[in-house]
Amino acid sequence: MTLLAHSAEALHGGGHMLTQPTPTAPVASSHAAASLRAVKRVITAHRQREGAGFVVRRPVPTAGLDQVDPFLMLDEMGPITYGPGEAVGAPDHPHRGFETVTYVLEGEAQHEDSMGHRGTIGPGDVQWMTAGAGVVHSEEPSDRMKREGGRMHGFQLWVNLPARDKLMPPRYQEVKAAQIPSARSADGLALVRVIAGEALGARAVIDTRTPIVYQHWTLKPGAAVTQPLDHSLGAFVYVFGGAARVGDRVVSDGQLAVLDAGAAVSLAADSGAREPAELLLLAGQPLKEPVARYGPFVMNTEAELREAIRDFQAGRLGEIRR
Ligand code: MN
Repeated sequence: MTLLAHSAEALHGGGHMLTQPTPTAPVASSHAAASLRAVKRVITAHRQREGAGFVVRRPVPTAGLDQVDPFLMLDEMGPITYGPGEAVGAPDHPHRGFETVTYVLEGEAQHEDSMGHRGTIGPGDVQWMTAGAGVVHSEEPSDRMKREGGRMHGFQLWVNLPARDKLMPPRYQEVKAAQIPSARSADGLALVRVIAGEALGARAVIDTRTPIVYQHWTLKPGAAVTQPLDHSLGAFVYVFGGAARVGDRVVSDGQLAVLDAGAAVSLAADSGAREPAELLLLAGQPLKEPVARYGPFVMNTEAELREAIRDFQAGRLGEIRR
């Protein structure tokens, strides 16, 4: 019953520190418990080398889980402490047919692309690049990090584009940490940074092609929140610090929980936990389209993949002017 009572309160926005009007809850409180999302399956991330040799934790894609439509990939970069001259990234490479989203927690990442975009993003900053018809970009630690070393931790998410947008003009959104809205639960135990979507009355500033929820939750011991999620969205939680209770399952550091259907997800950290739970909540409109992928290209058909490779080899995805 405590779960039900808690859910009903959270779905009505009760007790939140709100600076904006409470969003209308999508479900009636009497049915809140029934519509909470259950965990369908839990996947443990594997480690692998990427780019010029940096190690990532990758919960998707992994054996038995190709994607969580529309999310094609999630990589956790680090945390790792580099010595001077050790930091490496991913030099010039192409993308077509989807979006790459980089979220830095520690360290500095430097981006350059064939559209002429340049930027260095640091802790809390987000770069949302829509490759669309195609770009060539480089993703590197900053010059300072390469020279002096330092700690690097962050994420790269791949968001698929619907067939109608796969060849759209490329787009680049860079949002600094100060512009990423955040909110706390009334008891102060839960903190959310809202990269996409809406949580605890805070609404994201990034524009997405399809409805996307991308939230970073920090749950101190004893925190418990219920986050509404539209019924139509496919969703998962990735825990990257401590352990969180997601629905009725405990999900540990390095694990991804695929969520079942429902109107909301409950997220909590045990009151006896020794450290906060850190997690990403991702949700998006499933595209339900064929996925043909080959390295940095994600299209709908093999023929479109061959065209992407031909276009790249012919230089039609451009080059970075230095
Ligand atoms: Mn890339």
